[in-house]
Amino acid sequence: MTLTGVFFDAGNTLLSLDYAAIVDVLAGEGFPVTRDEVWGAECRARVRLDPFLAQVEVRESREVFSRYMRYACEEMGIPWSERAERVLGRLSEINRRESLWRGGAMPGAREVLAGLKGKGYVVGVVSNSDGQLETLVREAGLAGSLDVIIDSRVVGVEKPDPRIFHLALERTGVAPHEAIYVGDFYSLDVVGARRAGLEAILLDPLCAWPQLDCVKVQDLFQVSSLVLPNDERRTPPGDRLTPA
Ligand SMILES: [Mg+2]
Repeated sequence: MTLTGVFFDAGNTLLSLDYAAIVDVLAGEGFPVTRDEVWGAECRARVRLDPFLAQVEVRESREVFSRYMRYACEEMGIPWSERAERVLGRLSEINRRESLWRGGAMPGAREVLAGLKGKGYVVGVVSNSDGQLETLVREAGLAGSLDVIIDSRVVGVEKPDPRIFHLALERTGVAPHEAIYVGDFYSLDVVGARRAGLEAILLDPLCAWPQLDCVKVQDLFQVSSLVLPNDERRTPPGDRLTPA
């Protein structure tokens, strides 16, 4: 078996949250927090949100976004209050109007995508998004390295439904067993990709997730090291990617 395609989630995998905007909104309501505090809280909020994502019907919704941001606030030690409600309202408004995923490319995203593409791999993004994915990816300077961009709003199906992964594979001519998928939510990214027949890697920057039955990495550079160890392209990923 040959690995030919590497596909990625968008939010928190290739695209960063706009931490500056979040810090601003929080400061405006009297919550002085740093970018790193928001980042740490958000990493922990993901783990708490995951069981909810596993059972809701629609993932790209205002309800999911609100819960995600509420958990992040709680993880920053911001108790639920009128002011916290205003923070949530303001963040929802920014996300609706211009997206909160305008923080640019995640560390390593440009280099890793370009490196994989340069070695001849098919590279793509599969995301639960709101129709803005292509614009965001372009603004982050990543579009040139991507062979396919799949936005759930555009195609009408969301992760973890295997059909969204199959769309990316069909459009690029990659077989499921020749592909891996990298994302930051276990129930959407790992479970979904596996249902579609791909191998999966969980991005867990702060080691915030419990022991899981999948490979975990802390950043995209580690993905690159797993896929391209000494550029041995012909080794099947299953032989290298032992569960963490
Ligand atoms: Mg994500």
